[in-house]
Amino acid sequence: MWELTFPRTVITGEGALEYLKEIEGKRALIITDKVIRKLNFVEKVANYLNQVGLEVKVFDEVEPEPSIETVVKAAEFARQYGPDWLIGLGGGSCMDAAKAMWILYVNPDVEVGEINPFAKFELRKKARLICIPTTSGTGADVTWAAMITDVKEERKMELPSREMVADIVVIDPEFPKSMPPSLVADSGLDALTHAIEAYVSQWSNDFSDALAIKAIQIVFKYLQRAYDNSGDNEAKEKMHNAATMAGIAFSNSQVGIAHALAHSFGAIFRVSHGRIVGLFLPYSIEYGVREATERYADIARAIGIEARTAEEAVEKLIGDIKALYREVGQPTSIKELGTSREDLEKRLDDLVTRAANSSCTFMNPRVPDVEDTRKLFLYAFEGKKVDF
Ligand SMILES: [Zn+2]
Repeated sequence: MWELTFPRTVITGEGALEYLKEIEGKRALIITDKVIRKLNFVEKVANYLNQVGLEVKVFDEVEPEPSIETVVKAAEFARQYGPDWLIGLGGGSCMDAAKAMWILYVNPDVEVGEINPFAKFELRKKARLICIPTTSGTGADVTWAAMITDVKEERKMELPSREMVADIVVIDPEFPKSMPPSLVADSGLDALTHAIEAYVSQWSNDFSDALAIKAIQIVFKYLQRAYDNSGDNEAKEKMHNAATMAGIAFSNSQVGIAHALAHSFGAIFRVSHGRIVGLFLPYSIEYGVREATERYADIARAIGIEARTAEEAVEKLIGDIKALYREVGQPTSIKELGTSREDLEKRLDDLVTRAANSSCTFMNPRVPDVEDTRKLFLYAFEGKKVDF
């Protein structure tokens, strides 16, 4: 038996944002960051809401990798104001902060660390959530977990509750038009990793498979175009859709060890999420292939790779992924990323412990033990072959 969770309404395509004129309510709170504010996206959203009589306030203090403190502050702000609509506008950080603060807004006694899938939060008694992604990768607009950082512990917490999946998701191709190429690449690799990990996960199912495969095909067809030419609106729109499709796929399946390794590495070395999950993806495929050869081979065939055997198909898939990274200026090893071996080794025990304990490892096709996790970090340093 599978319980699948989807947003109630997804609006996509040109002019999607105009859907906000259908909203009925009194007060909206936009949860965003200072960069988004500068891009005038907040005004665009507020204008539509004002047109239908909603009062709008803005909380723009979300930082990249949002902290517990930010979530608490946003919830306090909301309690003073009393919105019946919350709007997560921005990249994954803004939308995850909006999801988590929603729980604290409605439940003042709940602490961030207590968010879990079994509790009842009754969120919709007080407010509903609209997610509007402005980057094309995180899938945070459609997932039912929020990634919040415990800064003191240098720890990323994955906080799940099916209640926090958005009521309305607006996938408007206008927003990604202003993404610079490096962000197109970073976020695109996140989408690719979500889709591939969702497809090979032990929890994959027919529904997640369909969305994952299509998202992978879109990334291979359009990511480089979106990166090479900022004015290629078709490619950017396709990538924007693929990110949300991959998000629905992995939130109804699971991500895998590329995410476990990346959450661990990213919390300590502060690297953009998409860049670092992408970096670990080819290594995690090599590691997992033994247990899921046919699944990986399906992906290879879906992007047009021809091979005599499944093993050969997967080998070519890894080659194609790395070739794509080179085309879009992304590193393929920790060394290329700019971290020294000395720094890596200094924090290696810590990295390994965090990654091995991540909830992302358990549904990977092959679950690494502590020793294999250590080998994966060392392998990803400069791609010198190791025996798993
Ligand atoms: Zn991700």
